[in-house]
Amino acid sequence: MSVTVDLSSKTALVMGVANARSLGWAIAEQLLAAGCRVGFSYQGERLKPELDKLLAGREGVWSQQADATSEEDLTALFARVQQEFGGLDYLVHSIGFAPRTAMDGRFIDTTPEDWNTALNVSAYTLVSTARHAEPLLRGGGSIVSLTYHASQQVVPKYNVMGVAKAALEAATRYLASEMGAAGVRVNTISAGPMRTIAARSIPGFGSMYEKAAASAPLGRNATPEEVGKLALFLLSDLGSGVTGQTVYVDAGASIMSMKVE
Ligand code: NAP
Repeated sequence: MSVTVDLSSKTALVMGVANARSLGWAIAEQLLAAGCRVGFSYQGERLKPELDKLLAGREGVWSQQADATSEEDLTALFARVQQEFGGLDYLVHSIGFAPRTAMDGRFIDTTPEDWNTALNVSAYTLVSTARHAEPLLRGGGSIVSLTYHASQQVVPKYNVMGVAKAALEAATRYLASEMGAAGVRVNTISAGPMRTIAARSIPGFGSMYEKAAASAPLGRNATPEEVGKLALFLLSDLGSGVTGQTVYVDAGASIMSMKVE
């Protein structure tokens, strides 16, 4: 079944596309297919060639470097949004990072530096980007970010990233409660494991990926395309009554405590 969504009068900013496997790109593909005009931000010039390849030949797209932890970069990025679009309908936050040292060892040994980095990059930047976007967001606007079930249950080695995702989910609720009066919705998508660059830095990701698929009611993992379709629903008017929620797209894996054959 296909639902036609026309976003040709809409504009979006997608933050956090490293390459074609990025969940941010899976979301951008759905927005672009629906006719949305999309701006992109990337953390460092290292990623620009990859993004340029993805955007080659597409109309209505632009990109700008922005480290989401830099107020200066965010100010410049949203000035560009204003200049290109004159306003904003959708913001996609697809950003996460924790230092490898925080995921290799025991959670109890997390250093304050690693804690601050993980929470700052992975959770606080949702708050700061929402604040910068707020004056530009039109009624009917919508913000979506990406989270993971390690916020709710212990996933070995996820460590401080689980705490950061819990903060992101709570921040989603607080932002939704404040931005609702202006007609802006804020939700986060809890995606099952997907093979991306960020996932590669999680120790034991390969076996976690296999186990999640084996235990999921659908007998497989969800796909980036399915993340994109859920984002399209949440961002567009299809999700008009949904805000402050953590919505799962994981082939059902999170509902299982164990699977008995
Ligand atoms: P990805 O392709 O590596 O995307 C993560 C992006 O975050 C990269 O573009 C990265 O840029 C960017 N980033 C990191 N620090 C940043 C900063 N300070 N400023 C701006 N951008 C920054 O991996 P992904 O899996 O698609 O991750 C996207 C989101 O999905 C993350 O929030 C992740 O936690 C979440 N998620 C992923 C999975 C999964 O299994 N893959 C499951 C659930 C949720 P650099 O490459 O320059 O660092």
